[in-house]
Amino acid sequence: MFRHQYVSGDAIDLPVGKVVCVGRNYVEHVKELNNEMPTEPLLFIKPSTAVVTLEDAFSIPQNRGAVHHEVEIAILIGQKVSSISEASAWQFVRGVGIALDLTLRDVQSRLKEKGHPWEQAKAFDGACPLSRWLPVSEISNRDNIEIQLMRNGVLQQKGASQQMITAIPTLMAYISQYFTLEPGDIVLTGTPAGVGPLESGDTLVTELNNQYQVETSVI
Ligand code: ZN
Repeated sequence: MFRHQYVSGDAIDLPVGKVVCVGRNYVEHVKELNNEMPTEPLLFIKPSTAVVTLEDAFSIPQNRGAVHHEVEIAILIGQKVSSISEASAWQFVRGVGIALDLTLRDVQSRLKEKGHPWEQAKAFDGACPLSRWLPVSEISNRDNIEIQLMRNGVLQQKGASQQMITAIPTLMAYISQYFTLEPGDIVLTGTPAGVGPLESGDTLVTELNNQYQVETSVI
């Protein structure tokens, strides 16, 4: 079972809540999937049952088509918030971490073609490997947090929050107009370009800001 924990190993006394995600938040990623450029944030939710530990080996669904990695900057919410302002958003953040927004890309494409919701492609059990958290006080570059993913020694994804279409505090303010965020909830902030398939046996190295690196394997 996933528990929130700091990188130092200290437990965080918050339940694991819902994961609110934004799609299409980096221009180069919108282009690589031939999607339309969004005019406002495109939101979806993964349930708490999707969350597993990134530091442990994790399994991916078999026989459901391509499973893509989307590495993302993750935000841990520390207080209950609703309709907050952009200017106040960071004060409600407890930690910053690394998430994989695992996506059944073939399933998603079929559902998109029919104009259906994509929950089955995004919200399945294990669809959100999530790292331990860096305390927000240790993030000195909140306006340009860096994230990257290497797969089997090859750099696949590299981005920084300055490249986001909707910046993190703006995104939190927007989300909180629609969904109350509770302590222990998580916000995923979108993926940079370079998404691609995972295979069982892969080794992944993800990194946040040169401050935290996680090596993990895919079962
Ligand atoms: Zn994503």
